Amino acid sequence: MHYAVIGFGCAGYYAAKTIRENDPDGIITVFSEHNYSPYNPMLTTYFAAGKIPFESLFPFGSLKQIEEEYRLDIRTGTKVKAVHAAEQQIVLEDGETVGYDRLLIASGASAFAPVFDGLDPADAFYMRTVDDAVRLKNELEEKPHRSALVVGASMVGIKVVELLNGQGIHTVLADLAPAIFPLASYPDVAAEIERRISAKGVELALGKGLQKAEKTKSGYHCTMSDGSTVDADLIVLCIGTRANTKIVDPNEIKINRGIVVDDAMATSWPGVYAAGDCCEGHELQSRNTMIIGLWANAAHQGTTAGANMTGKAAEFDGNFLHNITHFMDMDFIGFGDNRITGEVLTSGNIHEGLYVEAVLKDHRLAGVNILDNYRISGAIKNYLYRMMEGESEEISPIQKGILIKEGLRPSFIEKLEGSYHDKG
Ligand SMILES: Cc1cc2nc3c(=O)[nH]c(=O)nc-3n(C[C@H](O)[C@H](O)[C@H](O)COP(=O)(O)OP(=O)(O)OC[C@H]3O[C@@H](n4cnc5c(N)ncnc54)[C@H](O)[C@@H]3O)c2cc1C
Repeated sequence: MHYAVIGFGCAGYYAAKTIRENDPDGIITVFSEHNYSPYNPMLTTYFAAGKIPFESLFPFGSLKQIEEEYRLDIRTGTKVKAVHAAEQQIVLEDGETVGYDRLLIASGASAFAPVFDGLDPADAFYMRTVDDAVRLKNELEEKPHRSALVVGASMVGIKVVELLNGQGIHTVLADLAPAIFPLASYPDVAAEIERRISAKGVELALGKGLQKAEKTKSGYHCTMSDGSTVDADLIVLCIGTRANTKIVDPNEIKINRGIVVDDAMATSWPGVYAAGDCCEGHELQSRNTMIIGLWANAAHQGTTAGANMTGKAAEFDGNFLHNITHFMDMDFIGFGDNRITGEVLTSGNIHEGLYVEAVLKDHRLAGVNILDNYRISGAIKNYLYRMMEGESEEISPIQKGILIKEGLRPSFIEKLEGSYHDKG
């Protein structure tokens, strides 16, 4: 059996590993457009900030170690141009075609930014790849910077703000959205985070997008969508990501925002699988398919795809939107779709110690924001999983114990369980 894997990030790595664990004899060819070992994009800002060494970006070891351990044929510096599912062939950038029996597309996502008037895309900075991190690190080391504009109040944007602010650079964080973490936060939690980062010297320009940038001697004179201006020595665009799906023919394989997969990670074309940030798997809350751009999700999906490619029956039941982020001396955890409204429950003081804000819709927990305590996140996440999977509406006794130990009142925990007690 000849397996082909396109992309060697988290999803590609776990798939290749699982294929080898299940099929000792198959040929596994991995196509990777760069020459690095699989890296963790979550760590790029820590490297750029000088907090971790370069080697720490690669959690699975060197390419040589991985190649030997799993007996892989890794073709680095090899970009795939197209997948022809009907012919069971992939075409490389240099025109070479390679056949396969089973294919995994694990091409991840890329930083996306619109083109801004006056700003050459090559002059802006981004944060996704190892090369992005190396470029920003070099820039910060080589030239003195006094000011920066970060566009995108996302989880990536805040990490870049943390890095720049930590180096004493006056940083403006802008976003067209009126509040920080627009896809995860509730309004008062966002307001508290904004208050805290402002107190650390970050200037917020929320509700404002970058409109144009004029080059100056030291950097850029930027005009924002409300007409206000920002002078910045460098501009970092953290506006969003796009799934890397261009190699796939939509007439062959179903694509929405990402490549659509079922719980086995199979695409609409037999023998072709997809995993990680390039694909849309089952989202438990909406019951639709959705891209869930998270490391653990890519790992589970890659493992599931790898097993199925070898003929083992494996399923990944899905995931729901969540973010667990530590930055600037605080933890923010967001679970569920923050657009869902309903009964709001709160616990604790939003300004200090553990604060939890939960939204119940039709007496069921629909979303949670937590400030300043990542230790309760596992218990709440697990509860949400089991509830959305229809397994149980009750928080387990062990998890209740954790929540109480961390400072939640039993009466609040009972309220989180909404419908469980309604029935009782
Ligand atoms: C700054 C930052 C912070 C993050 N923070 C968190 C966090 O706190 N928690 C969390 O869970 N997740 C976080 N994430 C997201 C997480 O890193 C991703 O969800 C995960 O790495 C996705 O893995 P992947 O294998 O699907 O994709 P990728 O890591 O993008 O790997 C895909 C690989 O495919 C290669 N490729 C693409 N196209 C081709 C082609 N045509 N031919 C050959 N190779 C190709 C790419 O070069 C890349 O190496 C963060 C991401 C960033 C950038």
